Amino acid sequence: MAKKATHEQTRIHNTQLVFSTIYERGDISRAEVARVTRLTRPTVSDVVVDLMTEGLIEEVGHAPSTGGKRAILLRVDEDSRCLIGLDLAREDFRGALINLRGEIKHRVSLPLEGRDGSAALDVVYALVDALIAAAQHPLLGIGIGAPGLVDAVDGVIHQAVNLNWRDVHLRDLLQARYRLPIHMANDCQVAALGEYTFGENNRAKDLVVIHVGKGVGAGIVLNGRLFHGNPLGAGEIGHVTVVENGELCQCGNTGCLETVTNSRGIVRQAQALAKDNPQSILNQLAPHPDAITFETVCEAFAEGDEAARQVIRDVGQYLGAAAANLVGVLGGCRILLAGRITCFGQFLLDVAQEVMTRRALASLAQTSEIDFVSMSADIILLGAAALLLHEELGLFPFGG
Ligand SMILES: [Zn+2]
Repeated sequence: MAKKATHEQTRIHNTQLVFSTIYERGDISRAEVARVTRLTRPTVSDVVVDLMTEGLIEEVGHAPSTGGKRAILLRVDEDSRCLIGLDLAREDFRGALINLRGEIKHRVSLPLEGRDGSAALDVVYALVDALIAAAQHPLLGIGIGAPGLVDAVDGVIHQAVNLNWRDVHLRDLLQARYRLPIHMANDCQVAALGEYTFGENNRAKDLVVIHVGKGVGAGIVLNGRLFHGNPLGAGEIGHVTVVENGELCQCGNTGCLETVTNSRGIVRQAQALAKDNPQSILNQLAPHPDAITFETVCEAFAEGDEAARQVIRDVGQYLGAAAANLVGVLGGCRILLAGRITCFGQFLLDVAQEVMTRRALASLAQTSEIDFVSMSADIILLGAAALLLHEELGLFPFGG
């Protein structure tokens, strides 16, 4: 029995290794795959037969002649599978059909319109039903970026406040209904995996994405693999106290990083500063300070308003301090900010970078950098697809 299990594991390992190599390098001969993977040529040939039978790879002509017989080149058939990616961390639920290269082929978005609990679950089913109906290739599975406390191993959303979900066994529910492989993780973690896999930072094996929106959290990729943490997910930096006796947070504590950096915190601080500074552009853009919104702050900031800049300076300082802590734990890495705060541009990055450099060990700070993610609002959809690629096909093109 034990011997058989070992043989099976070796076969899976070899298959993933060969597929990853062809995925990463493209147009590559069997001999070259054998050289790169250090597998024997017969082993590579056997695996290639299996992958071609499954339609995952295809032969695409011959290599240029080097005197002898011209080698046949292999390539991943990027449209051989459909990946369903779901982003459940927004006001509307979004899903997409995505190919093996992270190209979005079809989108569906369904508004929640205040639905939560089991009614919100019905919206997830409607979303998946619509995507499956539109799929034109075999489905690899469903990847999900979900809000709140997510147990990625058991596929359970322990708590998502905005959806009024508690201990929702989402993976089991979807598996029973659709009979497909399901993988899920917290939205920040999925965003980090998306950036790592499909973003412009994909050569950085270690990266952290700090997502700042309604909530604040971090996703961590270490050596090309998502760091899940135990048992409820790593990266909950948003609920670490940074202000003694600060504002009450939705988690029940006070003065969490989230309370001073999320969109609501930014608005609250801008409203307070507007009251103290009648000349502020904030007051010209809103009829009264309490009517200031996140968009007002963005606009006033863009016009160079000093009060708005002060708010964002503070946000940058808190994020820079959080980055210094992350660098202290993880070592030098790329720290990428995502979410609505990207509208504050280089000014925010400069403040955060300066604070991180001042607070972290010099040698670590020198090898670390704070930047924005390179991806658009699709980062969670694509991250969910990346989760499937990593989990189902063993794909971690640059890591491992
Ligand atoms: Zn909190």
